[in-house]
Amino acid sequence: MAGRGRAGRGGAGVGRRAPGMRGTMRVGRTGPAAPAELVVSRRTALTGTLLCAVSGTGLAVADDGRVELALGPTSSPQARRAADRDCVNHVRTHRPVLSLTFDDGPDPRYTPAVLDLLRRYAARATFFVVGANAAAHPGLVARMRAEGHEVANHTHDHAHLTEIGDAEVRDQIVRGRRVVGDVGPRLLRPPVGRTSASVSRVARSLGERQAFWSSCLEACLHDGARVGGTGLGEALEPGAVVLAHDGGRVEGRWAQEYPRDQTVEALPHLLEALAGRGLSSVPVSELVRVGRVR
Ligand SMILES: [Zn+2]
Repeated sequence: MAGRGRAGRGGAGVGRRAPGMRGTMRVGRTGPAAPAELVVSRRTALTGTLLCAVSGTGLAVADDGRVELALGPTSSPQARRAADRDCVNHVRTHRPVLSLTFDDGPDPRYTPAVLDLLRRYAARATFFVVGANAAAHPGLVARMRAEGHEVANHTHDHAHLTEIGDAEVRDQIVRGRRVVGDVGPRLLRPPVGRTSASVSRVARSLGERQAFWSSCLEACLHDGARVGGTGLGEALEPGAVVLAHDGGRVEGRWAQEYPRDQTVEALPHLLEALAGRGLSSVPVSELVRVGRVR
C-alpha cells in the first residue's frame, strides 16, 4: 500500500499532498469535524474497493484535525506485530465468522442505534469503550453486555499512547480497565492504532492483549453509506476484524468530535451483506479461538 497516501500526526505527509495526488476529498464532512475519521485522496477513492478489503489500513488524525490514511510507524499489521508478536490484526479461519468492533463510545447519540441494528441481525460485537465515556454512560455499557457483546479497553481518555511515557501509559490502561471491569477477556485497542515496543510491554505487564483491525467501515464510505456498507460486506473474508465507531466525542487532552451518522447509516447494509453470505459477527475473544491469530 506504500504510496497510496501519506499522513499521520507528525508524519511527513500531514496537511500536504503526496506526489501524484490531485487533491483531497473530505468524506461527508458536515461541520468542523470529519464524520468518519477519514480524509482520502482522490486516488484512494478510485481504489476504494481495494482499500476496503485490504488488511491493516491505518487511520490517524492529522495535525489540522482531519483524519487521513496513515502509513505511519504502527499503521501496518506487520509493524504492529513487530512491536507485539501477540497482537491481533485478524484471524486465519475457514469458519464463517468475523468480528465487528466499535470504538470510542458509548455515545448516547449513536450507541443505542448500533445496538438496535446488531440485535436485529443477531450480530455480536466488541465495543472498545473510552473509559471516561463508559463512566458517563454506564447504562449503555450494561446494555452492551446484556445483549451478548464484549466490552473492552480503549484507555480512559483515548490517550495516544506513543506520545506519553510508560507511567502514563500504565495509568491510562489501568483506569480504562477499571471502568470496563475485569469481566471477560482483557483486550486493549490502543487509540488510533498507535503502539510501540514499550507500549506493548506495559500492556502485556498488565495482562492486556492488543487488538487492532484488518478493515475499517468508515474508510469505505466515500461513495455513500449504502454503497460502502454493502461493498465492505461483500469483500470481507472470514476472520476479519472490522473497525467502526459508535462514539464521536472525546473530551480532555485528546479531545475529538466526529459525527457517526454515516456509520449508523452504513451498518444495516454491511450487516445485510454479511447475512447474505452466511457470515456472522462474534466478539474478538471468540474469533481468536477459532483460528490462527495474525
Ligand atoms: Zn478510538
